[in-house]
Amino acid sequence: MTIFERSKPGRKGYELPAYDVPDSGCNVPEHLLRKDPPMLPEVSEVDVVRHYTNLALKNYSVDRGFYPLGSCTMKYNPKINEDMAMLFTQLHPFQPRETIEGAVQLMGHLKELLCEITGTDDMTLQPAAGAHGELTGLLIARAYFEDIGELEKRKKVIVPDSAHGTNPASAAMAGFEVIEIKSGPDGCVDLEELKKHLDDTVAVIMLTNPNTLGLFEKDILTIAKMAHDVGALLYYDGANLNAIMGRTRPGDMGFDIVHLNLHKTFSTPHGMGGPGSGPIGVKARLAPYLPVPVVRKSGEKYELDYNLPKSIGMVRTFYGNFLVLVKAYTYILTMGGKGLKHVSDMAVLNANYLRVKLSKTFKIAYDRICMHEFVIDNEEFAKKTGVKTLDIAKRLLDYGLHAPTIYFPLIVHEAMMIEPTETESKQTLDTFVEAMERIAKEAQENPQLVKGAPYTTPVRRLDDVSATKYPVFRFKR
Ligand SMILES: *Cc1c(COP(=O)(O)O)cnc(C)c1O
Repeated sequence: MTIFERSKPGRKGYELPAYDVPDSGCNVPEHLLRKDPPMLPEVSEVDVVRHYTNLALKNYSVDRGFYPLGSCTMKYNPKINEDMAMLFTQLHPFQPRETIEGAVQLMGHLKELLCEITGTDDMTLQPAAGAHGELTGLLIARAYFEDIGELEKRKKVIVPDSAHGTNPASAAMAGFEVIEIKSGPDGCVDLEELKKHLDDTVAVIMLTNPNTLGLFEKDILTIAKMAHDVGALLYYDGANLNAIMGRTRPGDMGFDIVHLNLHKTFSTPHGMGGPGSGPIGVKARLAPYLPVPVVRKSGEKYELDYNLPKSIGMVRTFYGNFLVLVKAYTYILTMGGKGLKHVSDMAVLNANYLRVKLSKTFKIAYDRICMHEFVIDNEEFAKKTGVKTLDIAKRLLDYGLHAPTIYFPLIVHEAMMIEPTETESKQTLDTFVEAMERIAKEAQENPQLVKGAPYTTPVRRLDDVSATKYPVFRFKR
């Protein structure tokens, strides 16, 4: 039932005292007044609280349980991040500059810390998400090639077939031609394949390391040299920095442009839980093209720098999703350098623990030491039992666990991509393994049981094709 259906004419959730001054009437010009009253539900305070609390209880979140959604880094987000963000909720972007000193200093210091973590020289905090960061990074690459007179010939962006779907989409949006290259048998970039496509018509190679199979690209230094030898730029999809944070840096691997997902690695809620932030770090020669304003050191303090004649302009209103920046800043300061390194150690340890335990029952695609995540290949399992990856994912919900990412990356059929994150205990990981083993057994003995799952959730299997093709966003009376 929606809040509108709970509406009862005349019911209110507030009571205001009567006027104790003369009523001066309505001063809003006639043409700005709405013709019809707004369609607001008429409900009491308790109606509202119960309605939304009950809805929230139907939802599953990382605060309620394990959420091993690969490539999404659903780690637990400490509540102190929210507390600190609350300190800034009264700020308005149109406030006079001299009244937002703290906010500017925070952005400046955050930028410096993120540059240090990624090994880049400068950065914008403006993009509102990972994909938005990718687009921004590619527009910077475009502006750079235009500036040096090479945009005419450099039309291509190379993307491996294991890439996150946003990579080719961003490259196409930025006006480039997307060239997809096949991964090698080891799941990594195939150098021969890369060589075939690499010449001075290539603008950018987009990679992530570890790649979406959770594998570290061991040839990354060679790849960087190959890219730079033909004058191309190397772009790093750093949405999932969890695996390497504090251990190695994209900038040191030779990447020229790096995007981060603060709403993954840097612990701010995402996926219906809040807005995102996708800062873009660049090497010094690309800094002139960053969106304005850039926060820069000016003497002892940070200042907003609007004086970038070669800037690609603004990519979002004001300074980006500022409260997300506060949460990430809080997270980095509370963790400290050693803490961030511990995060990547534990993220990788947890993933490998699960990989080895699950390999007794399931086939692991590219079964070797992984980074922060790994992929299960259920193709044979599905052939033998008739139970597909989708069915296993649905059955996990009955065991009170969130399902891993499924059917991604596309190069593994019946893929199940598992990322436990560093915030989970051994007990939680063991619970997940037990559930997966029980489901494997059910699939052998009673496949129909698994194929009919879930049985215990507020809604059963949803028609997600219709939901995508014919979305209904508004309640109509
Ligand atoms: C999540 C993710 C993205 C996209 O980030 P959004 O904030 O969802 O736009 C891009 N690349 C990878 C590898 C990701 O995991």
